[in-house]
Order: sequence, then structure tokens, then C-alpha cells
Amino acid sequence: MSLPLLPDRDCGGCVECCRVIPLNLPELAKPTGELCAYCVDGAGCSVHAIRPQTCRVWFCLWRVVELSDDWRPDRSGVIVRPDGVEDGIITLYVVRPTEFLGVEDFFVTVAGWIAEGIDVALSIPGPIGTYPARAVVTDWLRPAVEAGDHPAFVDRVLRSLDKLTEHDFQPDGVTARYAVAS
Ligand code: SF4
Ligand code: SF4
Repeated sequence: MSLPLLPDRDCGGCVECCRVIPLNLPELAKPTGELCAYCVDGAGCSVHAIRPQTCRVWFCLWRVVELSDDWRPDRSGVIVRPDGVEDGIITLYVVRPTEFLGVEDFFVTVAGWIAEGIDVALSIPGPIGTYPARAVVTDWLRPAVEAGDHPAFVDRVLRSLDKLTEHDFQPDGVTARYAVAS
């Protein structure tokens, strides 16, 4: 899936997807959570001109929809995943819990999605090389959203994330293979 990108927005120093997204291609395989060996942390892809097609078309929704700069994944700790959007569900992949989960911007944005009828899922990574945990939390968050109760919303988000840590994380089965430049 390739969504139209916002003009005048680039990844800057963010490299979160080069870490968290698993790849299993002939020329590049890396497990979930392993920073790609071609990625220069804080700078980006060192094989940009010949990077795999998957890397060319995968973008988080911060590159696609009007979210504030604070939502940039390396700042917020939250990757808004593109998969599922066409089915009316937005997955917030919390790669690193930060204070951003408690700010008004996060609350208002997520509450707005739920109010519009969009489903919201929370997801967290497990150990390197395992699939993430994920749960749809729309109905769990809805009472706090409908009451406009920001503290209750934050409490429910944090409790959801805490619950997800109990997940039985399963291996993704990917063995690292770096052969893009060979
Ligand atoms: S090849 Fe480049 S764009 Fe693709 S995951 Fe590695 S560093 Fe990121
Ligand atoms: S997670 Fe989003 S902002 Fe960060 S590098 Fe990937 S596409 Fe760019």
C-alpha cells in the first residue's frame, strides 16, 4: 500500500521504521526490532538509491496525515501504522512510552478518531525477533472519550499498554540477511 505523502514533510532524523518493521526479502531480511544494518541512526538509509521496494513504499501515517510535529515517531515514541487504515482502523504502535501519551494533542487526536467512528488499536513491540502485541481498544477508551475525561483516557491507555506486556510474544522467524549492496 502506498498512500500520498504530505508535501513539505520528511522523516528528518527519524529512523524508527528501519528498526521496528521486519523485512524478509531476498536482498534484505531483518527481524522485528533490529535496526537495519544499512541505517545510520539519526541520519537514515546508507543504501538509499538501491534500497528495496518495500522501503520505498512503506511510510507511517505521520508522513501522510496532518498530525503535529510532536507526533514524529522518534519524538512521540508512537508510530501510526498505515496497515488497517483502509478497513477503518488506526494502530498506534507504541515503540517507547513517552510523556506524549499524556499530552492534550494525543488525547484530542485519538478522541477525534473514535468520535468519527474509526477504530483504534494499541500495539507494543516484544523482544527483538518477535511479532508485536496488539489489541483494539476503541470500546475501552470510549467512555473517557465521550466524557471528555483526559486523565481517565490516559489511565486507560497506560493500563492497556501494561496489559499488552503480558502477551506471549511469538518469534517472527526472520534470520538477518544483508545483501542489498552486494
Ligand atoms: S534498507 Fe534503508 S530504508 Fe530499508 S530498512 Fe534498511 S536503512 Fe531503512
Ligand atoms: S517511522 Fe515514519 S517518520 Fe519515522 S522514518 Fe519511518 S516513515 Fe519516516
